[in-house]
Amino acid sequence: MGKADLHTHTLASDGALTARELLEKGKKKGLKTISITDHDTISGFLDGIEIAAEIGIELIPGIEISTIWKTKEIHILAYGFDYKNEELSDLLRSQKRARVKRMKRIIKELQSQGIDITYDEVWAEAGQGNMGRPHAANVLVNKGYVSSFAEAFIRYLSSKKLDSIKTEFAEIGIVIKTIHNAGGVLSIAHPGPIYSQDEIDQLLSLGIDGIECIHPSHNFNVQKTFTDLAKSRNILVTGGSDFHGNGKSDYDPYFGIVTLGQQHVESVKRMSGRKMNLINSNSQK
Ligand code: AMP
Ligand code: ZN
Ligand code: FE
Ligand code: FE
Repeated sequence: MGKADLHTHTLASDGALTARELLEKGKKKGLKTISITDHDTISGFLDGIEIAAEIGIELIPGIEISTIWKTKEIHILAYGFDYKNEELSDLLRSQKRARVKRMKRIIKELQSQGIDITYDEVWAEAGQGNMGRPHAANVLVNKGYVSSFAEAFIRYLSSKKLDSIKTEFAEIGIVIKTIHNAGGVLSIAHPGPIYSQDEIDQLLSLGIDGIECIHPSHNFNVQKTFTDLAKSRNILVTGGSDFHGNGKSDYDPYFGIVTLGQQHVESVKRMSGRKMNLINSNSQK
């Protein structure tokens, strides 16, 4: 059975590869199915649709959404939605604005700590990508404020360090409603290091359809705990490598290695009920 990776990033957010480069690399690694799950944007996925059909790989509509739950900013994955849905497009436009506002606040905070960094520098670093903290991290490295990407996060950009920064990402209820209205399904991203059992229960009770059980941050015990939980609740099991391709993420070596079984992909597809861009499909022609 073919392998799948339902968690990858491209240049459209904070990854380093184009959709073509990512899909070709995935094909070489033997992946049958990929979902491009950029942060709050589907433009990498849209770029990939024709390429996936051309090279014979199944591409599932996907996204990793930053959302507010209680007072926390968390990541939720979504799959199999109608990517032309207008309500979804509106949500993504507003998420993009929230990213810009958040970055302006982050820069102000860094400036107050004596760092010479400007919005334009981060904007240039992001290029076509949806702006995020990794772009600011690159600027801090390039300007010599820190000696590594990891140091930039540890000293300046971690959620803990930016605790006081207000963000305007959509509330989780809105995200869930929008994705469901667009025919998609949702999965709690990389829960392992983040939530207590009680919090997982609370998130599921909001209507989230699955759990990302398989992720490089999960050891075998964690993976088994979540997979058993998903089985007992009859919800989706999702997973992937969280590949960014920039050599800076610890997860990059896991691409093609940390994969999801095809039976789980079938469940995602069945539940979302959306037409996928199947191998050899001529629907794009
Ligand atoms: P943002 O979209 O701005 O919230 O940034 C989230 C991204 O930053 C994640 O997907 C990772 O790629 C990266 N990131 C978050 N925390 C860290 C960390 N502690 N070390 C390295 N990269 C991180
Ligand atoms: Zn990322
Ligand atoms: Fe994430
Ligand atoms: Fe991710």
